[in-house]
Amino acid sequence: GSCLKFEDISFTFPSNSQPALTNVSFQINKGTTTALVGPSGSGKSTLADLIIRFYDPDKGSIKVDGVDLREFQINSWRNSIAMVSQDNFLFHASVKENIAYGYPNATDEEIIEAAKKAYAYEFIQNLPDRFETIVGNRGTKLSGGQRQRIAIARAILRNPDLLILDEATSALDTNSEKIVQKAIEEVSRARTVIVIAHRLSTVEKANNIIVLCNGKIVEQGTHNELIEKKAEYWSLY
Ligand code: ADP
Ligand code: ADP
Repeated sequence: GSCLKFEDISFTFPSNSQPALTNVSFQINKGTTTALVGPSGSGKSTLADLIIRFYDPDKGSIKVDGVDLREFQINSWRNSIAMVSQDNFLFHASVKENIAYGYPNATDEEIIEAAKKAYAYEFIQNLPDRFETIVGNRGTKLSGGQRQRIAIARAILRNPDLLILDEATSALDTNSEKIVQKAIEEVSRARTVIVIAHRLSTVEKANNIIVLCNGKIVEQGTHNELIEKKAEYWSLY
């Protein structure tokens, strides 16, 4: 099948002396879920930023089916990706409009149905009026967790070829996180997904887990393989 291939990637931010990534090579097969795990500052978000082409690598290349990302038209490449990052980047618009961005030409009922299907979106189910709430920096009545859920719903409903979730459930309580994770797993089945996480326990079901430390890959494999190799990974993350 087709794949996204990272070939010997190195990248240093112009303001830093230490590289953010050093000689990183791995492959993501289409339709699989890959987790990037590692301590804060290990280079996980930088990898996501290279995929979305906020930056290009100093050395090495990222290839889709053998073609360098730099040869793609940047907007069409970005349009095939949905990324949920820690700061959600919701639009200053209503909840409905934010979600509808992923679902053009849909009626309110269709948007609500789609959001419910995507996962148990309890504040929409119980409070349809919240649908009209403006998501903004000032005067917003939405919590960080609610904002995260809107961002996740929007990303899922855009039906992207590649879904990148960068600590996308960090503001959710354990119970909501479980509900959202279940929904993500459901939509992930036939989709290429990259999940960035601190803890191994949240990415048990990933097809491949890449462990990063100081910008280098220190280990990779399935959850069981990592646990067998090094029991201490459990306590690390
Ligand atoms: P992680 O996502 O694993 O927490 P990052 O990819 O954000 O790690 O960071 C990797 C390294 O790059 C860190 O040393 C971090 O300080 C540095 N870094 C990240 N973003 C920037 C930036 N915009 N400018 C300069 N340095 C950065
Ligand atoms: P435009 O609507 O002109 O495309 P945007 O600021 O909405 O401008 O988006 C810029 C690019 O980023 C577009 O390619 C869009 O598909 C993508 N984009 C916007 N929001 C997200 C998101 N949450 N996740 C992934 N991609 C996004």
